[in-house]
Amino acid sequence: MAESNEKRVAFVTGASRGIGRAIASRLAADGRHVVLASRSEGPLNELKTEIEQAGGSASVCAVDVGDGAALAAAIEGVFKEHGRLDILVNNAGITRDNLLLRMSDEEFDEVMNVNLRSAFVACRAAARPMMKGKFGRIVSIASTSGLVGNSGQANYAASKSALVGFSRTIARELGTKGITANVIAPGFIETDMTKDLPPQVTDHIKGLLAVRDLGKPEDIAAAVAYATSDEAGYLTGQVITVDGGMTMC
Ligand code: NAP
Repeated sequence: MAESNEKRVAFVTGASRGIGRAIASRLAADGRHVVLASRSEGPLNELKTEIEQAGGSASVCAVDVGDGAALAAAIEGVFKEHGRLDILVNNAGITRDNLLLRMSDEEFDEVMNVNLRSAFVACRAAARPMMKGKFGRIVSIASTSGLVGNSGQANYAASKSALVGFSRTIARELGTKGITANVIAPGFIETDMTKDLPPQVTDHIKGLLAVRDLGKPEDIAAAVAYATSDEAGYLTGQVITVDGGMTMC
């Protein structure tokens, strides 16, 4: 095992772009060593360079979170290399939208595998290192779709809603070990996932929001920074909705 790193070590999935990229940058700026995980190595290497140029510390882990064995091995590899794993952010996610009557088994299964099963596999792999360190902060990125539903997203909403029950259960199982588990539910955030929405849909959405504007990836990163901080030890089993006042539930 390599020498223990003094910095807290964070594993962030879906770090190549969008919300995950902002989360990784923020955690690095807050002094964590961040393991940048997603499938595309090029953008991860660029982000690593950017973080290091800003005085932070990061490493790259090219992994498909839909491949459970590879994901578990990646997390075990982080513990072997650093001797610790303190923070896990399950952020990688996909949509395969379709109305219920048209949704295929493949569309349902793929979304559940990438959005939900990956969080189960990652948490199971991270739990032992966190228990050894008597400290852990787990955050899973869900969605307001999983709280209030969204037409065309039966698969996606089910996967995000399930993250809530999953996280609350592991919060109960791991709470006495210094490990917390929370969910952050973003509303509409400006990323690749939402960039193809027609302008009239975006305008309609803005009209539903108390702040009348879409969110930025940094808005979610700020919530993750708090939920994964040392001082957030009494925050667990919660859903923090960051949606500009869309749902208020
Ligand atoms: P995005 O811009 O589409 O980025 C998705 C990220 O997930 C990318 O880094 C992608 O990296 C990674 N990813 C996808 N499939 C993967 C796989 N099989 N293995 C490893 N990494 C994978 O999405 P985003 O908007 O930032 O969304 C991030 C999270 O927030 C998702 O869980 C999403 O459901 C949630 N969310 C987003 C919004 C929104 O309005 N944007 C709202 C609510 C919730 P690679 O392609 O390089 O693998």
